Amino acid sequence: MRTVKLEGEGRCRLVEVPDPVPGPGQVVIRTTASALCGSELKPYRGAGVAAGNSGHEAMGRVEALGDGVEGLRLGGRVGVSAIAGCGQPDCDACRQGQSTWCPHFRFTGGMHAERFVTWATGCLPLPADVPDDAGVLVSGDGFGVPYHTSRKLTSPEVRRVAVFGLGPIGLGQVLLQSYLGREVMAIDVNPDRLGLAERLGAAVRIAAREQDPVAAVRAATGGRGADVAIEAAGVPETARQCFRAVRTGGMVVFNGEQPAVELSPSDDFIRRDVHAVGAWFFQVGEFTEMVRLYRAGCDVTRLITHRYAFEDAPEAFAAFAAGQTGKVLLTYGG
Ligand SMILES: [Zn+2]
Ligand SMILES: [Zn+2]
Repeated sequence: MRTVKLEGEGRCRLVEVPDPVPGPGQVVIRTTASALCGSELKPYRGAGVAAGNSGHEAMGRVEALGDGVEGLRLGGRVGVSAIAGCGQPDCDACRQGQSTWCPHFRFTGGMHAERFVTWATGCLPLPADVPDDAGVLVSGDGFGVPYHTSRKLTSPEVRRVAVFGLGPIGLGQVLLQSYLGREVMAIDVNPDRLGLAERLGAAVRIAAREQDPVAAVRAATGGRGADVAIEAAGVPETARQCFRAVRTGGMVVFNGEQPAVELSPSDDFIRRDVHAVGAWFFQVGEFTEMVRLYRAGCDVTRLITHRYAFEDAPEAFAAFAAGQTGKVLLTYGG
């Protein structure tokens, strides 16, 4: 079978590898769709991926079952959460569907491939009325991170949300927060992505190269600041801007991965009663609600701007890295 090999420094190609074999608790998925995630740009531009690729959002059909797998059938159509809990009956986190909180969770990568092996506990059977392009999003972190974040933003006082950084996660935040009736301010340096954010429901667009984003958020909120500022760029300066753009008593959400940011406990937190939270991935227990939102009209497929055949993965990565896309989808088997 063929898989995408990220070779690093912006190079990628298809390579032939042996068919995967499932171990105990594992299944083999025959891929029908996979999606590119912003986190993949680092290995794509940098050192590559020794094992093949960083794909971790995919769906397909169950092709082989390993020993001890229950609740899945051969040929069944599933979305795959890249993070799978241990599934042991004595694991509190797994019992509650909190897969990312499982102390023994496992991660599956390499999903940009004709087949891949993954853990049965991360397989989410897709209802027939959810098509492939929606299925890959409602079972992956492209929509999962925005949804998981939204569970921390349930206060009716959250009316104005500033989204800093309009990669796929930021755009997902724009889509979902707008759908939930919030006024969204979308901030990025890239005019294409600002345009996309507007089409997904953003009420205010802020071009971060042309105007000070903090001043622009303040101006758009009558000087008050956003109720919530979401850091989806993964940049220290953007994180500091989130704290300055959020109102007193507001909340900053970290979605973008980054190792360190210098913040002031006095100025950023204490004297303005600001709190900050992190939101990582999503939990398998949230899948049903993500499907419900899609069925209710939150059309996650609007995040997809580019679709490529699996064979054209090098072009897909190049377009994605150029920063002009929303979500990029690979489809398999024609
Ligand atoms: Zn991801
Ligand atoms: Zn567990």
